[in-house]
Amino acid sequence: MINKTRLEGKVALITGGASGIGEQAARLFLENGARVVIVDVQDDLGHQVVASCMNPNICFYHCDVTDEKQVEEAVSHTVAKYGSLDVLFSNAGIMGPISTLLDMDLHAFDNTMAVNVRGVAATIKHAARAMVAGKIRGSIICTASVAASIGGAGPHAYTTSKHAMVGLMKTACNELGGYGIRVNCVSPFGVGTPLSCTAYNLEAGQVEESCCQRANLKGIVLKARHVAEAALFLASDESAYVSGQNLGVDGGFTVVSHSYSVN
Ligand code: NAD
Repeated sequence: MINKTRLEGKVALITGGASGIGEQAARLFLENGARVVIVDVQDDLGHQVVASCMNPNICFYHCDVTDEKQVEEAVSHTVAKYGSLDVLFSNAGIMGPISTLLDMDLHAFDNTMAVNVRGVAATIKHAARAMVAGKIRGSIICTASVAASIGGAGPHAYTTSKHAMVGLMKTACNELGGYGIRVNCVSPFGVGTPLSCTAYNLEAGQVEESCCQRANLKGIVLKARHVAEAALFLASDESAYVSGQNLGVDGGFTVVSHSYSVN
């Protein structure tokens, strides 16, 4: 029998919770007893996710993670509404344009870094402040990518940002360990979400087909729910002594020899 109370009594803040991996994590965390605040820049979608859950223990709050004030307010809102903050799933991200290095648009590069690195740093900062103030032995999880550990699995700025995120996770792990706070990453292979569909101008099924062809692990299609399950493990007390890890949800893709060209 599956234990459905793995986050009983915990409060989770999920960025990018209106879509894709964040949405699936919100549903899964809720099913496991958490009270959940999803934040996103897509307000209509965020409200739709909340309405579809038909559960008073989930709400939406507008937050652009590139704006530190909005991040601080989102954390304050979470603590005010549910009385605590135990889990941060810093998941919001963008892929940015796909181009060669020779044609790279550095404004787009800055934008990718602003969301994927600075935005994650802001969420870790303010969530950790709330956890420390509340003496909460919290769990922080960031969504990195296979592009966090190998080159050629995503656009240049995206790859740079995801590598940086792993460094941020490690340095946060170092400092926050003193407060009993764990910090980890999940690193998925390709998932058919709006992020990947828009970047490659494909339907979700086409993204999945392409990923299945390139995947190391055959006979299974990676879904957002699989990534959410890994985040749930890291959010829960089942991973009570796991910190500083970049957990691949990639079927072994990053540990075997492959050629993966995005151009
Ligand atoms: P998605 O587009 O479905 O979800 C991303 C969400 O982040 C969206 O709802 C978007 O509105 C939100 N967002 C973007 N910028 C934001 C901002 N400035 N402030 C607040 N919210 C913002 O895509 P997804 O695939 O679920 O992406 C979630 C995470 O997973 C991202 O960090 C992405 O890099 C990572 N990831 C995705 C894949 C994949 O193939 N889809 C693979 C590896 C890692």
